[in-house]
Amino acid sequence: MKSTVVTFPHGHVTGRSQIVGTVPVGARHGLVVSETPFHPLDHTWPDQPADRGAIGGLPVLDCVTGARAADGAILLGSDIPVRRGADGWDWLVVHVTGSPLAVGADVELEVDAAHRAALSAGHTACHLAALALNAALAGRWRKEAALDGLGHPDFDQSAITSSRITPHASLDEYRLGKSLRKKGFTADGLDVAEAAHAVNERLKAWVTAGAAIRLDVPGPELTARRTWHCALPEGEASIPCGGTHVRDAAELGEVTVELTLAEQSLTMRTTVTPQA
Ligand SMILES: [Zn+2]
Repeated sequence: MKSTVVTFPHGHVTGRSQIVGTVPVGARHGLVVSETPFHPLDHTWPDQPADRGAIGGLPVLDCVTGARAADGAILLGSDIPVRRGADGWDWLVVHVTGSPLAVGADVELEVDAAHRAALSAGHTACHLAALALNAALAGRWRKEAALDGLGHPDFDQSAITSSRITPHASLDEYRLGKSLRKKGFTADGLDVAEAAHAVNERLKAWVTAGAAIRLDVPGPELTARRTWHCALPEGEASIPCGGTHVRDAAELGEVTVELTLAEQSLTMRTTVTPQA
């Protein structure tokens, strides 16, 4: 069994392949094919949820990342002891079903396209909001920091602790602790309503102007180091990303954020309101 070839980075939602392995998932069945359009939940950075859909006519109840060790043992999700893409392991998309299918069977794979599209919209909005947040907070850095593709200090990559994509939305958590302060960022006196307003104005301008989005896909396997690129009016931005996206920011409709400040954290809730 080799690492699974994935077609979701190219926007595919259907495919045909062969079952090349099975692995028990509790009382359920984990099916591995050689090539799939299904996006599984990543075990290292679980931001975008699993696709829904069907494999060989059976509902896909969940879709998780599997790692096959040199001795043939397959570990799933949080049981995987190494980081995404580590050498010496095969990386598998595991489609979880209620009934078994035989190794060698040819199967049709069909992703729920509407659910995928809603997750892609949420994921693209999440990245755009992160860039707009970097711009809104740029004046709060007292030291030189790593810059994002638009030339702003990269608050997002410096402070993010978790990111969760949902249909047409995302929720990002940032830590404002001692280490961020040491890097030169201060949240003292931060007016989150003002910052959210600045983020929203920028998002509105980007969505109105439109911005082509593409994924750089260096290899066909699940764990290839893919990169999201967006041609914004201010320049080309890029963010490492294993998920799926819309093809142009203009497809999103309205994107807005809400910011919530706590003692040691900043939360950004991003919402996409599709155009009627
Ligand atoms: Zn991403």
